[in-house]
Order: sequence, then C-alpha cells, then structure tokens
Amino acid sequence: MNNQQAIKEKPAIKDKPVIKAKQVTNRGEEDYIKAIYKLSDEAEGDRVTNHQLVTYFAHTAQTVNEMVRKLEKKKILVYQPYKGSLLTALGKDEAVRLIRAHRIWETFLTEKLGYAWEEVHEEAEMLEHLTSSKLADKLYAFLGAPTVCPHGNYIPVLSDMNRDDLDTCGRLKLSKAKKGKQYCLKGVVDDKALLVYLNGLAIYIDLCFTIIERDLISDIVTLAYGGRNTSLSGAVAQKLFVCEVYDAEDNT
Ligand SMILES: [Zn+2]
Repeated sequence: MNNQQAIKEKPAIKDKPVIKAKQVTNRGEEDYIKAIYKLSDEAEGDRVTNHQLVTYFAHTAQTVNEMVRKLEKKKILVYQPYKGSLLTALGKDEAVRLIRAHRIWETFLTEKLGYAWEEVHEEAEMLEHLTSSKLADKLYAFLGAPTVCPHGNYIPVLSDMNRDDLDTCGRLKLSKAKKGKQYCLKGVVDDKALLVYLNGLAIYIDLCFTIIERDLISDIVTLAYGGRNTSLSGAVAQKLFVCEVYDAEDNT
C-alpha cells in the first residue's frame, strides 16, 4: 500500500495526523503556555494560579497578571479570578507543539550533531520557538520518527495523545522500585546538574540494574550494574523513571 509512496519524495509520516501550526504567539507568551501546561500537569488539578506562575518565573504579580490577560484575549486560556488559568484546546495544542519541537530538536542534536544529553536543553529551548510544524515534521521523519527524546520523554505526535498510550511498560519512579527486582532506566528529568551527575555514575537511558538495597530510613536506594554498586538519594531516585524487567518466562 505504501510502495508507491516510498519512491516519492514524501516521507512515510504522511499518513500520520500531525499537529497544526498556530503561530499566534511570541516567545514570552509561549513560555507561559508551556509553564501552565506543565504546572497543571504536575498538580493534577486543571487550573494554574497566578501565584504559581509568579513563583515559577520569578516575575512580579503584575507581569503575570498582564500575560494571563493577554493569553486570555488570544483564546489560549480561560482565567477565573481566585482560581487560575485553564488552557483551552488551542492553548494545549500550542503547548504540545512546543514540547514536540523541543524534543525533536534534542534528538537531532544528540543523534546527528553529537551533543551530550546535558547540553541540548538550552539549544532546544531556543529552537522550539523558531520551528514551524512543517519543519518539526520534516525533522521528525528525517530522524526516523523517534518515540522519545534523549532523556526518555515521549515525543507527542497528536495534541490529544494520552501519554499512557505510549507507555508500554508501566513506568514508575525509581523511588518506588522494589529491592531484589531488576529494572531498566527509561526516563530522567531534564535537569542539567542531574544529567552531569548521572554521567559520572555511568547511568544512562536503557541501562538495566538490580536494586540490592532500599534503606527507607536514610532514603537511599542502591543499584548494582556493570560490576559496580551505586547508592542514590531519594531526591535523585524521584527524578528517574524505570520499567521492571520480568523473568524470561513472564515475557509474552
Ligand atoms: Zn528531553
């Protein structure tokens, strides 16, 4: 069915639905859209208060208030006094478009330009704001439609895509992992200091290890891999996401 397409110029991504371009915003506004998306995600509630944004950006209450009003006028969000902001469908599309571009650039920089995983965030942060949906799609196809960025975070394809659809292994935080079991690292929080720290411990995405100790009193988890044991603090274990490795007979 794709035979004729394959010889044509069009990439194979053609039959996949792709996020639309809606470049109605500037960089400052886009940073707010991403922040609201991220904060509402983390809080699991929907609304993000102006106070949360003041803390997040270290902006004044007045600056935040003005930006929120501006985004409301552009139908990016709905603001309710005392309750906070809720992204509209348009706002969510924008957020996902930016996150998608960000993670595609990160993948490009590491895979094609030899960047280290701790070096790509700032570059991607700049590039995402300059990237049309067309460019993002071309780059994505060029990279072979990658599922995750170098930090193991999913690259969204559809704006309404549920992350759980992509999570085929049931990721959990390393801090929730059990002693005696085997896990593989599938994701890390994109935090430069953390990534550099992990480099020093030879911990990277897809590394598999066994939990040999979980000290709940001192909040330390000890991993064994590649002939070494490494103890991580609870604060670090909170920022690593793993999938359990099951015995061969359990595999389908
Ligand atoms: Zn990333």
